[in-house]
Amino acid sequence: MKVPLLAALFLFMVPSLCLAHEVHDAEKPNFIVIFADDLGYGDLSCYGHPSISTPYIDRMATEGQRWTDFYAAAPVCTPSRAGLLTGRYPTRTGTASGVFFEWSAEGMDPAEVTIAETLKSAGYTTAAVGKWHLGHRKAYLPTSQGFDSYYGIPYSNDMGIDAKMTFAKDVKLRGGVTLEQAQMPAKRKTGLVPLMENEEIIEFPCDQDSLTKRYTERCVEFIKENQKKPFFLYYASSFPHVPLHASAEFRGKSKRGLYGDVVEELDASVGRILETLRQTGLDKNTIVVFTSDNGPWLSEKLRGGSSGLLRGGKGMTWDGGMREPTVFWGPGQIKAGSICREVGSTLDLYTTFTSLAGIKAKGEDSLDLTPALKGGKSPRELFYFYRGDQIYALRWGQWKLHLVTEGWLGVEGDKEVHKSPLLYHLGRDPGEKYDVASHHQDVVRKMLSFIDKQKEDVKPGRNLYVKKLDYVDRPAWSK
Ligand code: MG
Repeated sequence: MKVPLLAALFLFMVPSLCLAHEVHDAEKPNFIVIFADDLGYGDLSCYGHPSISTPYIDRMATEGQRWTDFYAAAPVCTPSRAGLLTGRYPTRTGTASGVFFEWSAEGMDPAEVTIAETLKSAGYTTAAVGKWHLGHRKAYLPTSQGFDSYYGIPYSNDMGIDAKMTFAKDVKLRGGVTLEQAQMPAKRKTGLVPLMENEEIIEFPCDQDSLTKRYTERCVEFIKENQKKPFFLYYASSFPHVPLHASAEFRGKSKRGLYGDVVEELDASVGRILETLRQTGLDKNTIVVFTSDNGPWLSEKLRGGSSGLLRGGKGMTWDGGMREPTVFWGPGQIKAGSICREVGSTLDLYTTFTSLAGIKAKGEDSLDLTPALKGGKSPRELFYFYRGDQIYALRWGQWKLHLVTEGWLGVEGDKEVHKSPLLYHLGRDPGEKYDVASHHQDVVRKMLSFIDKQKEDVKPGRNLYVKKLDYVDRPAWSK
């Protein structure tokens, strides 16, 4: 009797063991990434801004987890987005050394595997709303990178148009522009950008005043339409990147001027999305992440944001260029009302999502942050700061070592290659003011050895900014 009983027990146990980490379709969590553009570390009220009011993101932080040391993958738009979507350091994908423009012939290689592709192959419905910036030509658009649908401006909102893009039959032309003019390579006028639906231009020039409202509507519709199946929504706002645009409802309302109005409208947009999740009951099974692609655009002065007490901004590898205001929200799944002071990165969203969804795939440089989301430790010990394909700095625990420092567009000085690296203790000195390298030569040596290993392990991909479209008018600096 004993043997068959054991066998039966064994047979009973085997499948349950196999299923232990499997997440059934109906239970798979939904994921929403809300990705601001050029929003600084100090630009939200829950990160200390005195005159911008962001009650909805503040509430998100109270109900979820606010991170103090969360980094974007790069200090500018394109590589930052490539890093988030692939979980790979942008140098690997050939996107590190610039950003795409309307005259760029290429985009991120469609062979790269994005979070959207991985989730889609696991049964998720996927949508991209907002700024793309990984190539505007058909082969590189979101619909070629794992998204079922796309609605937005395919690059930054201060760029122009590639007249050979596909215009929808019923394209809405504004400001007296005719289709003939829109399709003529004209003198580049910045800020006249196309609005796209999937692979076609549906509006030109895009009415940016109403854009946040329209992005929000798209997100809300998508959530409502996908209540019965798992979904991934990537909402990459075009703001508060310059030129700043807010709708009449928000214009002139904030104490911080137009920049504040734009951030407050984005905050209200986050509020609408979370409210939709509560109304549909999806709040119990949806993880929402709010973060930004890079630090504030300091050379824009009052039009740009603030990195708070951090040093530097957009385009720089000082913390102000890459440390981002970041909130994770997911009632019941993420430790409510907590502050995580560990190191994390947008690189890690890939593996964190696949882990939560019970999918085996991992991003190459992407770590699973779920232990930290539950109130424990982050697995991220090292984070490399690249500018282009070169390692400028490394974070290791509370230490940050700079090999090279450089400002951008006249802010924070010229490129300086430091013969003796600079060392800062970010716990004691988050503003990176006081170099303590001479007191901690052992730390410097250890960190230099990590950098040597990283240089050996991570090789730059083919530079995707070299090929340019010859028929698109471009300013002299780009030639
Ligand atoms: Mg940006």
